[in-house]
Amino acid sequence: MRIGYGWDSHEFKSQVPLKIGGLDIPHSKGLGGHSDGDVLLHAITDALLGAVAAPDIGTLFSPSDARWKGADSAMFLEEALRRVKAAGYKITNVDSTLILAQPKIGPHAQAIRERVSDLMGIPGDQIGVKAKTPEGMGTENAAIAHAVVLLEKVPHNVRRRSQKKSPR
Ligand SMILES: [Zn+2]
Repeated sequence: MRIGYGWDSHEFKSQVPLKIGGLDIPHSKGLGGHSDGDVLLHAITDALLGAVAAPDIGTLFSPSDARWKGADSAMFLEEALRRVKAAGYKITNVDSTLILAQPKIGPHAQAIRERVSDLMGIPGDQIGVKAKTPEGMGTENAAIAHAVVLLEKVPHNVRRRSQKKSPR
């Protein structure tokens, strides 16, 4: 088994759409950043990459590279999933905590979980999405995300069988 941990933060900016966990959330501000600023997908991506000892998100998708300007963060997650699979692992579960003052995540938590489930190709009951407000942290204008993932090795015979099923 492998464990992975990821952390990310982005600053709120006006005139930017808010995207968390691949979901558009109605709010007066969004998260700034070179890509779409999806703090949750970035933390999950880094957790997956870390679990298989791959380079981190900033190394693979450098903020100075014009290709990733305004990029959909689902692309970053896809690359991390590809690396997990190539290393011979499958995801057991993901847990995450969002820390932000506004907007309230509670009403969107189930939709975020469903969207992350679609993007990761694992059932929603293997995905934890929790949210807290940043009491006493002085980070009212930022969104922070922590994520952990647990991976388990796919047995060799199962891997060979699934490779035969989908030849490249
Ligand atoms: Zn980020």
